[in-house]
Parts: sequence; structure tokens; C-alpha cells
Amino acid sequence: MQWSKSIGRSFVVGMMFLGAIALPSYISTSTSEELLTVEEAPALPPDPAYRDYGHLYPYPFYTIEEYRIRPGDYWGGITRRFGVDYTMSMSLIQRSKGIFDMRKLVAGKSLHVVYRDPCRPPVALIYRSSPTEYIHFNLRDTTVERVALPVERVVEAIAGTIDESLWLTLQKQNVSWELIAKMESALAWAVDFYHINRGDRFKAVYEQKYLHGEKVGLGKLLGAYFHTRGREYYVVYFDNGRTKGYFAPDGTPAKGRFLRSPVKFARITSRYNRRRFHPILKRVRPHLGTDYAAPYGTPILAVGDGVVERVGYTRGNGRYVKIRHDRVYQSQYLHMSRFAKGIRRGVRVRQGQVIGYVGSSGLATGPHVCFRFWKNGRQVDHLKLIFPPPSPLKGAELEDFRCATAPIVEVLESLPIPYPNQSPSPVDKLTL
Ligand SMILES: [Zn+2]
Repeated sequence: MQWSKSIGRSFVVGMMFLGAIALPSYISTSTSEELLTVEEAPALPPDPAYRDYGHLYPYPFYTIEEYRIRPGDYWGGITRRFGVDYTMSMSLIQRSKGIFDMRKLVAGKSLHVVYRDPCRPPVALIYRSSPTEYIHFNLRDTTVERVALPVERVVEAIAGTIDESLWLTLQKQNVSWELIAKMESALAWAVDFYHINRGDRFKAVYEQKYLHGEKVGLGKLLGAYFHTRGREYYVVYFDNGRTKGYFAPDGTPAKGRFLRSPVKFARITSRYNRRRFHPILKRVRPHLGTDYAAPYGTPILAVGDGVVERVGYTRGNGRYVKIRHDRVYQSQYLHMSRFAKGIRRGVRVRQGQVIGYVGSSGLATGPHVCFRFWKNGRQVDHLKLIFPPPSPLKGAELEDFRCATAPIVEVLESLPIPYPNQSPSPVDKLTL
């Protein structure tokens, strides 16, 4: 059993009724114990940059200056600004292939410029591509390397009672939106997050990532609990290399939130393809959907629960319906012959509910549904999204699952839930 260095760290989220508990990180691998010794080096760095890069360029032998990428900055311009010669700049572009895309420098992110001698060109450029990762451009040996920082993963837990919406309740308490989104997505098969009630209770066990003692994002949501409308739901995360996803504690997968197809027994005639030749327009036009051919009048089903966002007609789309499933996912169904009864903007639909019928309205050669799927506002190939496996775990795999997830289930069961207007429960350290 591995005990995290930060067992002693604990935190309380919220003022009124959320309690949070820091757990030892028995489940996660502390990424790089060896590197932690760097943090304990006695040097007194004048700048936080030395915490991350001082092992490469120790103080006071090197000067590390920070530059913030500005809108419109590009690699050539930046290297010129810092006196890197053109040949070197080009070689670094060559060397970065497959490691980092130089066109993806983001305004606002930092680039650290390292000097051995302040009167000469820099010896390195370090681009902080994410809070936990950097790209090291070594100008002495012309190498480019992507490096992960020694992030520590601590297992933490939180519990609370909803007083308004889940989002409002958690946002008011400063819980990261990332955790809320993960809970929403892990529990979406069971809990209708559009209709959360005052008094509903929840718990979550998750990995919190720390760098130098500061939160730098969330790892996995390891388990969650929800109590709503008199029923309790548990999900735990399981990954044994072959099977992964969220399951109920008995090994039943948190089942697919979305049907794989909006029509039963249909044939796919055209897949999502960014470079597809359009049969009617006779030119290359990306096809950001999947076409399912089916006879006229075949029922079209909502692939998931949601709210009808649009019911309309355009020359290209013909009759179409668009559904918003949650903050992340939307789906759209084109070329309908007619809409199903009662399908109007703002109406709630259930997974599998008939929303319309196959036709060829709009720009279509024959009867089919063009099915489009959005993730965070971008059209994606829904067939490539990973859905949890459909059948329950059995035999040895079920045994594996039980062993691996038992500690999480135990935490979820034993974690006390503070009630509204109750002061936060005293911070505990659970021993697992
Ligand atoms: Zn299509």
C-alpha cells in the first residue's frame, strides 16, 4: 500500500454544508517519487520557474526569464525576438515533429527563456503546454522533448446535499466544474440531471492532482453516489486493461447513454468523413454525420434523453430535429418525411422515443437519416466515441472488479453527508 506524502493535507470545501475529506492515495500511482527530491533541494530560487526547471538549469548559474505568448505570436517571431539564429529555429521545428505542433502556441501561456550568459543567445526555451507538462527546446544539442511534471495524485472525497441545482450548489462551494461534469457524465445513465431536486444527496471519490502543493486539475472520478427520488445509485470506475468504464457495484455497466443508431435495423450508407465527395453537389464536402438508409416511414429514435432544441426545415437538411442531451452532447436527425406527434421545441424526450420518420426531404438521394452528433459544440463521429461495454462483468473479471473497487464502495457507503445549514463535518482522514 502506497501512502501519499500528503496524507496530512486535507481540505474543507464549502462554508455551509459540504464536507470534504482527503484520503491517502492508496489507489493511484504517485508519478515520480524520485523527482520529489528535487523539490527538497536546499537552493533558494528567486523565481517559481526554478521549482520546475531548476533541476535542468540550477540557480544561480542560469537565468530563467518568463515570456507570455501574445496573440499573433509565432515560432519564428518568438525565436527572433530572443536572438535565436534562423538555422537553429528551423532545426527545432524539424525536431519537434511528432512531439509538439509549433503552430499550437497558445496566447497567455508561458515560455521560459533560459540563459547561461545573459549577453549571449539563450540555451533553452521551455514552453508550458499545460499546467502539468512542458516542451523543452534544448538549443545546445538541438533536441525537443515533452516532459511531464511530477504530479501527485491524492484521492479525495466530497459529499453534500443539493439546495438549488447541482451546478449552483457545487459552484457556490468552489467545487471544480470538472468534477461536476464528471459526476454528471458517470451518473447520467441513472440520474436525470435536468431534474435534480432540492434535498438530493451526492458523494464523489476522485483523484485530485497536485503540483507543488497546488491543485492542477482532476484525475479520474473513482466513484460516485446519488440519492434522488427515494433511490440510491452508485457507480465505480474500473479499468483492468481490457475492460474500462463505470459500473454499478454489482458489475453492471453504467449503460450506454446513447443508442448506437437512431433507426433500428438500418444500414450505414455513409460514414463521418471530413473529405467526402457529395453525390448531389458533385464536389468534396465534409460529411460530418452518419447516414442510415431505411425505408420511408421508418421510426427515428432519440438516441438519448434530452430536450428538443430545434424542429425545422432547411433546403439542405430537409425536415430535421435537434436534441440537446446535456451540456456536452447534442444530436441531430435530418431528411425526415414527417415529425412525430408532439415533437416541438422545448419538449423533453426519452432515449428510444420516436421523434420522426425516415424520408428524403432536403438534399437527399433516397430515404435515409443523416445523423449528427456534437460534443462540446463540435461535430464528432459518434461511432468512434467509447461507450461502456454492454454486458455485465462475469467470472474472473467480476472477481477482479470486486477486489479493485471494494475500497471505493466502502468509502462511498461510509462517507457522511452534511445536511443543508449544517456546518461542515470535521475533516477526517480515512484509513483504507
Ligand atoms: Zn448525411
